[in-house]
Amino acid sequence: MRSKIVAGNWKMNKNLSETEALLTELSAKLPDTQAEVMVAPTYINLTAAVRNLEASTIEVISQNMHFAENGAYTGEISADMLLSVGINTAIIGHSERRAYFGETDEILAKKVKTALAKNIRVMFCFGEELEDRKSDNHFNVVESQLKNALFDLDASAWKNIILAYEPVWAIGTGETASPEQAQEMHAFIRKTITEAYDATIANNVSILYGGSVKPGNAVEIFSKPDVDGGLIGGAALVADDFIAIIKAI
Ligand code: PEP
Repeated sequence: MRSKIVAGNWKMNKNLSETEALLTELSAKLPDTQAEVMVAPTYINLTAAVRNLEASTIEVISQNMHFAENGAYTGEISADMLLSVGINTAIIGHSERRAYFGETDEILAKKVKTALAKNIRVMFCFGEELEDRKSDNHFNVVESQLKNALFDLDASAWKNIILAYEPVWAIGTGETASPEQAQEMHAFIRKTITEAYDATIANNVSILYGGSVKPGNAVEIFSKPDVDGGLIGGAALVADDFIAIIKAI
């Protein structure tokens, strides 16, 4: 069901004591909100994060997972491992995974299938590069990313999918898509899902925007009708900034 979501992707930041400190501050300052609030610390601190947030409504999610059930995949983490420490949602397809770790649409499609088969909710990230936007190819790129990774799923799978549109040129660069650019793309995404499935699925899926969301621009971005929240990188590492973004929704 479509809901408002603010999720923080901590990437490869925060050691154990820093993780504990940030989570304690976040829980103490969390405002009353209808939105789902999520944080994605590094794998090694997921257990500590789940324990720290036992009494909180903040959900701990993972930044990634592997597509295989188990086996000889040195350094990887499986769906069952995530479930065993209380993680029920995984980010899949972040642009840094695509760019630095060779994660193709085909690999991501496998990850999505495994996660859903294990009842792990998927936060699927996608978005165009700067050259795609400059050459006016951004809608085609986004459409093919969705199609390649998601469009052979059964309609019933979509209740466990969250989308995060993250134009690569806006991630960690301080450059944000304008609220109008975000709205235009989110509306296009709903139209594309309507064509592939139906309007009910398209209207029920939460579509987050990600890319240099900060306290100063969150209200305007979140005010757009097809923007259901944000996936936040840098600003999620500072409690007061993340809290301000949650208040913006
Ligand atoms: C991200 O990495 O998902 C992200 C949106 O980062 P930032 O907010 O730092 O641009």
